[in-house]
Amino acid sequence: MTVEVIEKDKLNLTIKIEGYPLDLVNGLRRYAMSEVPTLAIEDVVFIENNSLVYDETLAQRLGLIPLKTPRKYLEMEDAQLMLVLDASAEDSIRTVYSGDLVPVEDKEVKPVSNEIPILKLAPKQNIKLEAYARLGKGKKHSKYSPTSKAIVKPTPVVNIKNPKTENAKKILDSCPRNVFEIVDGNLIAKNPNFCTFCEECLKVDKESIEIAEKPGSYILGIESIGQLDAKDIVIESADLIIKDLDEIERRLDSL
Ligand code: SF4
Repeated sequence: MTVEVIEKDKLNLTIKIEGYPLDLVNGLRRYAMSEVPTLAIEDVVFIENNSLVYDETLAQRLGLIPLKTPRKYLEMEDAQLMLVLDASAEDSIRTVYSGDLVPVEDKEVKPVSNEIPILKLAPKQNIKLEAYARLGKGKKHSKYSPTSKAIVKPTPVVNIKNPKTENAKKILDSCPRNVFEIVDGNLIAKNPNFCTFCEECLKVDKESIEIAEKPGSYILGIESIGQLDAKDIVIESADLIIKDLDEIERRLDSL
């Protein structure tokens, strides 16, 4: 088995996996979306709300704000962490943002972004509440899913049969993924892994280009919303698959 990192930063991880079946690679993707837990606001206690927005609507909005989830909480199914919101408008209209939510027990458990608007307060209006974040999974509610993108595709092979084709510029312009480059008059595939098999280049000149899938090789791409680093999402997915397989083995052993 080989794992090659194609792209990596805090929020994105793209890796090429060879030597493992598609089902397993796709399992990593599905676990990333729906089994890796994160913290999200589940209960809200309103102390004061004289804004125009109903309590229920506000609670729904608060639940959808992604919260940073330190890995130490991933095993703590009964974790409950409080954040408070205490905002008022004096003489002018005020927009209340996610950054106004203040963590109480753990300063690390805070909104992923401070700039998500929650509501507007007119002059003399106040909002005061306690919000309780709990651990949950994307399969229960999408607010808990840590991924904004989770894809698996076969590894593309972009074979240029005629690098000096007169259609080189048209082929380059047809590709929405910037796969091609022209170097010294020759068409080359600079970023073959970016190919999405859309076949736009083949519509221009199918004699000069061949697009194929590399057998037994897959690209897994994970984009994090921000609760967890992309790398941690994939590591956690793998750990959870192993745990589930161990559980199946344990139950089979006890038959
Ligand atoms: S199939 Fe689409 S993405 Fe792939 S190289 Fe051709 S134009 Fe680009």
